[in-house]
Amino acid sequence: MTGVAGLTLSGGIGWLRGTHGLSCDNLIAADVVTGDGRLIRASEVENIDLLWALKGGGGNFGIVVNFELRLHEIADPVMFCAPAYPEEHAVDVIPQWRDHMASAPDEVSGLAEFSTIPSDQAYPEQTWGRRVITLATVYDGPAEKGERVMQPLRALGEPLLDFSGQMPYRELQSIYDGLFPKGRDRCYWKSTYLSGLGDDVIGAIIERLIKRPSEMTYASIWKFGGAMQRVASDATAFGDRNIPYMLSLDAIWSDPSDDDANISWVRNAWQDMQPHSTGRLYLNFPGLGEGDNLVRNALGAETYSRLQKIKRVYDPENTEHCAGRSIVLTNERSRQSARAALCRWGGSTCGSKRASRRSGTPFRSRRCPALSCYQWNIRADADEVNFIRGSVEEKRDDDGHDDIRSSERSTYQAGSARRWYRP
Ligand SMILES: Cc1cc2nc3c(=O)[nH]c(=O)nc-3n(C[C@H](O)[C@H](O)[C@H](O)COP(=O)(O)OP(=O)(O)OC[C@H]3O[C@@H](n4cnc5c(N)ncnc54)[C@H](O)[C@@H]3O)c2cc1C
Repeated sequence: MTGVAGLTLSGGIGWLRGTHGLSCDNLIAADVVTGDGRLIRASEVENIDLLWALKGGGGNFGIVVNFELRLHEIADPVMFCAPAYPEEHAVDVIPQWRDHMASAPDEVSGLAEFSTIPSDQAYPEQTWGRRVITLATVYDGPAEKGERVMQPLRALGEPLLDFSGQMPYRELQSIYDGLFPKGRDRCYWKSTYLSGLGDDVIGAIIERLIKRPSEMTYASIWKFGGAMQRVASDATAFGDRNIPYMLSLDAIWSDPSDDDANISWVRNAWQDMQPHSTGRLYLNFPGLGEGDNLVRNALGAETYSRLQKIKRVYDPENTEHCAGRSIVLTNERSRQSARAALCRWGGSTCGSKRASRRSGTPFRSRRCPALSCYQWNIRADADEVNFIRGSVEEKRDDDGHDDIRSSERSTYQAGSARRWYRP
């Protein structure tokens, strides 16, 4: 169970996405406390741009103290379909799941989950420790009809277990709670949107999943479609909806000494899958938010630029930082101080630099006071900093490019200089 606030502000992908879109598509209005302490309302008639920004732009604009969400009738009970096939059959099962889901009605939303059956009395003992691929799918409509529509997913081979059943929607929403007991887990979850799910992509996913170091880990291929895809790309800050699938790599473990192995596994698998990705990712599964331009890449450059303009209106002082999911502003004051630092450096007033020249050691092996000043200003406020053979440019994307260059040219390479400024 997670909170509704973070979920909605960065999208919200649930069991009803095929019929009712994302959580953020159902956000009608919000009350927001801004960084300067004002309480304002965002709705279709007041601060319309802010409402747009809250639909995918995360907690970058203020603290939302009240959400108004559109409600929908839900059948009671609903049908949850969840056959769990042995993972060694994934290479046969997932293509069949993909083909079935491609022609399924909007009422059917689901994902294919890799996991391991826990050694727990809730499961038959002979299945403990077995890796499975579970086709977890929900039908938003009468349960009997859902059972018929989803029945083929339960006959794609011989399931090891079948968790399918009719149940109230609220029970369905808490069905996974037991798997994530509060305070036990260490997690590193990172996603990437896949541009397709050809057999080669399925093979690549399976190959990475075989190597997962923890049996507590989940990884899922989420199928997108229906109402969530029919929303125009500029209608919300979530951006372009032309994303057929998402891969989420959800490493879970409990021993701190396993941190490196699990985080590295996700990072490597995520990187390996990039050739099959649209290049975007889901900000509710962002890893630790690391990586250059994570939010811009996640939402798309156009959406990001529009969000920067809105942030300038509602949070010009950059008060709202979201761990790893910040929309970064370059403000005039920081540009001026960056210029001043650059001026000292470019104008050769920096003692360290002269010293390094005299001693003949490369500049980058010494610490420079101007450099650390410059580093602080740029890293806090700039969107992107590039070093090209010693020249420095600050790029801004919110209102075109604004480049600052030092007058000095030196010979070290961009890559090595970059490590100083952007470790
Ligand atoms: C077990 C588990 C299952 C999950 N399943 C799904 C899933 O099925 N679908 C899905 O889409 N996501 C899923 N997620 C991811 C989930 O959407 C994110 O973890 C989300 O951030 C949770 O929202 P929260 O309010 O609990 O977040 P928090 O951790 O409280 O906050 C995350 C960020 O949201 C922002 N924020 C939170 N509250 C506010 C506020 N009131 N005002 C302004 N900004 C705020 C802040 O930037 C904050 O840093 C799952 C996560 C977990 C742990």
